[in-house]
Parts: sequence; structure tokens; C-alpha cells
Amino acid sequence: MKSKLKHKIFREISQVADQMQMETYVIGGFVRDIYLHRPSKDIDIVTVGSGIELARNVAKSLKPSPRVNIFKNFGTAMLKYKDMEIEFVGARKESYQQDSRKPIVENGTLEDDQNRRDFTINAMALGLNKSNFGELLDPFNGIEDLEDLIIRTPLDPDITFSDDPLRIMRAIRFSTQLGFDIHAGTFQSIIDNRERIKIISAERIIEELNKIMMAPKPSIGFKLLEETGILKIIFPELQQMKGVAKVKGIGHKDNFYHTLEVLDRIVPNTENLWLRWSALLHDIAKPATKKFIDGQGWTFYAHNFIGVKMIPGIFRRMKLPLNEKMRYVQKMVQLHMRPIVLSEEEITDSAVRRLLFEAGDDIDDLMTLCEADITSKNSDKVKRYLKNFKLVRQKLKEIEEKDTIRNFQPPVDGELIMKTFDLQPCREVGIIKDAIKDAILDGVIHNNYDEAFTFMLEKAAELGLKKKN
Ligand code: ATP
Repeated sequence: MKSKLKHKIFREISQVADQMQMETYVIGGFVRDIYLHRPSKDIDIVTVGSGIELARNVAKSLKPSPRVNIFKNFGTAMLKYKDMEIEFVGARKESYQQDSRKPIVENGTLEDDQNRRDFTINAMALGLNKSNFGELLDPFNGIEDLEDLIIRTPLDPDITFSDDPLRIMRAIRFSTQLGFDIHAGTFQSIIDNRERIKIISAERIIEELNKIMMAPKPSIGFKLLEETGILKIIFPELQQMKGVAKVKGIGHKDNFYHTLEVLDRIVPNTENLWLRWSALLHDIAKPATKKFIDGQGWTFYAHNFIGVKMIPGIFRRMKLPLNEKMRYVQKMVQLHMRPIVLSEEEITDSAVRRLLFEAGDDIDDLMTLCEADITSKNSDKVKRYLKNFKLVRQKLKEIEEKDTIRNFQPPVDGELIMKTFDLQPCREVGIIKDAIKDAILDGVIHNNYDEAFTFMLEKAAELGLKKKN
């Protein structure tokens, strides 16, 4: 293990800690990640005594000496060294009250500090003093849980989760990120303590949820959230998607599991969190719109438009951004069926131009979402769809090269229409503008000024407007 602490910084900390005669350890996620061979740049140092004093002296011993950021309220200090962020804290003992996840903190021993950690795999420490440099201190056998791929609380899980219910989200997040199982007792305790999640702020919950979204297989996390009853508290709209209704023996597909499949399928194709959110939300309005129609079966009429309307409420409650990122997700949800519809019909230039116009620069993302959305078990059907999508992509490319519709602005704008016919802003201006846009998208005229101007004159004449002299 000594070789694992090769980074020069550990020797420096070790020397300073020995000079100050302070018992000092590297602890938590950094130690866990050494054993998992996951590179980590965040180092947590715990010392029996003042973490701030230790940090100050370590900084002094380094050349050049880095700035120390001190957080007095938390008794912590942070410094950056090369590409590492190192946080220093005094070992502490924590006790909790019922209504808050903010503990009462006292100075403590290493053992006290390990007892307050969330999971056995996160409670391991490596000695940094000369006498125990690189020695593992692992009172809860985290090493064995690492080998067995188990998430387990070090103490009674009911106390661990009730004290700080954010740990419920963390358990599920680590299980998703690392592909670990949650130990049976720990899992049961999450179920028993699920109502406690209500004391956690939306900001903290979304941080964990976004980490689940960015994991290699996010469905693991959402299934765990559902199985433990957390999902219906934090994300009722998604919970609603689970289950299959039947009328006259006809069921629809389970939209919860379908959605998770789409989400997992999109992961290898994008690191864009918002495209992943689009995958999670693309069918969010299916429960609200589902209807059984005789002779037709289950329908979800306008679920994309209703989905768009649901998104601001979800984003606001979850403290997700209400800016262009949300609008991007709305656009994806709104358009998510268009390429499929397109590929089922004859792929006309006009339909392709319209799609390009509406999706703009996000057209490739939209195609990625649509391809992920093909989850049929019927492999012939899947093959057919994917083949058609290839055609759609090809056609998109051709039309874009020919007509540059992507960030299309009609060559004749409202300003010019008003000037030409001496108009104030009015209904007619909108009618002419839309007619020009439609004529270009439908291929009636080309995307250039002269043809658009002539078309404008014709359209205006139909409306009885006279050109200003
Ligand atoms: P990641 O960097 O992926 O979030 P991490 O384990 O390093 O993983 P941090 O949030 O940086 O996560 O926490 C560092 C360490 O602090 C953890 O390994 C754990 O020992 C401890 N810890 C963090 N949050 C809690 C908590 N809510 N309850 C108990 N211990 C915690």
C-alpha cells in the first residue's frame, strides 16, 4: 500500500504531522478509490487535533506555498497542490437531532471519525505518520465489502440513515456508480427510513440524482429508488409511469421500464447530462394522456406536448436550471417522435426541412434520442427502424448541405414587410412571414432574398395590401 501513497504530497504531510506530533490519516473516498483503481484528485486528511493548523504548516512546507482556504465554521481547511485538492479536518464525533441533518460536533478520535462515516467502504483510513505510513485502518472490514461489491453502513443502518437521510441517496448513488449491491439489512433500513428523505433539500437530492444520471447504467439507481419507495417521494411523475393498465385483455408497455431502457441505451452515445434528462422525460406525460380507444388500443395522444408543459414544474421543484438547458430538454421531448413518424412515411424534402428548422443545431442529439427510443423486442422491427433512421440522417445531411435550414432565418423579415407596405406590427405581418417560411420549408421557393421578396408581394396582394411608393 505504501506504493499507493507515492504522491509527494503524502510525504510532506507525513513529515509535518510528525513534527507537530499529530496523528494523521488519509481517509474516505480517496482510500476507497485506491483499491478500486479509480483515479481521484480529492484527498481528505483527518488529524487528531486542528486540521486548520496542520493545513497551514503543510502549505508552508511546500514550495511554492499554496493558499490555504479556511472554513472556520466547519473547522476545515483546503489547499490545492498540483492537480490535487486536499481537505484537512480534525477528527470528530457527531451526534444528531431528530429534525436536522446538521450534527452536534465534538473533537474525537480516529475511531469516532470512522464511526460517523456513511459506508464501510468509505470509512477506511491509511496512516500517514512515520510509524504507520500506508497502514490500513479498517475497523468495519470495508476491504471485504469492496471485494464483495457491497454497500453497507458501518453502524446500525437505522441510526446511520435516520441521522442523515442524504446517505440514502448516497447509498443508491454509489451502488449505481460502482455496480455494487446494497447489503440486505442496509436496504431494508432505507425502506424503513424513507420518509426521512423529506428533510433533505432538493439541491442535495438533485446532486445525487445527477450523479446517478451520469453513471454507466443509470437504470440501477432508478430501480433502487423505486423499490425502496424513495422515487414516489422525490419524483412522483416517474413513479406514475410504472405499471401496465389492461382493458379487454390488452395492455400497454410499462413506461417506467421502457424509459429506463432508453436512458441506458443513450448513455454510451452521450456525456450530455441534458440529453440524458431528455431520455428520462421523453414519455413523462404518457400516464396523463393514456386512453384506451376501441378498435385502436392504447393511445397517448399529444404526450409530447403535455410533457413539455410538465417540465417547468418538475425542474422548479427539483431545483434544476430553468434556463436554456430546460428549454433544450423541452425541445427534445416535444420533437422526440418526429424522426420516427418521418421514417415511417415517405421521407419528403419538405418534412425533412421542417424537422431541421425546428431542431436546429440539436438535430443530431434528437436523432440520438430517437435511436435510443427503439426498444422493441422484435428484432426485424428494430432493424427496419434503424435502417429508416439511416435514411433520415442521410436525407438530413443532403438537405442541410443544399438549403442550410439549420439556423435558418427567412431572408425577408417582419421589418422589411412593414417597411414595404407601410404597416405597424399587425396580424398581416405575421401571416406573410409564416407564409414565406412555409414556402421555403415546403420547397415552393428557394431560400434566397429575390424569391422570398417576390413571394411576399404576391402574398400581400392576396391580402389586399398595397406597396408603398
Ligand atoms: P465522490 O467524490 O464520488 O462524491 P466521496 O466518497 O469522495 O465520493 P465525498 O462527498 O467527497 O464523497 O465525501 C468524502 C467522504 O466523506 C466519504 O467517503 C465519506 O467517508 C464521508 N462522507 C461524505 N458525506 C457523508 C455523509 N453524508 N455521511 C457520512 N459520511 C459522509
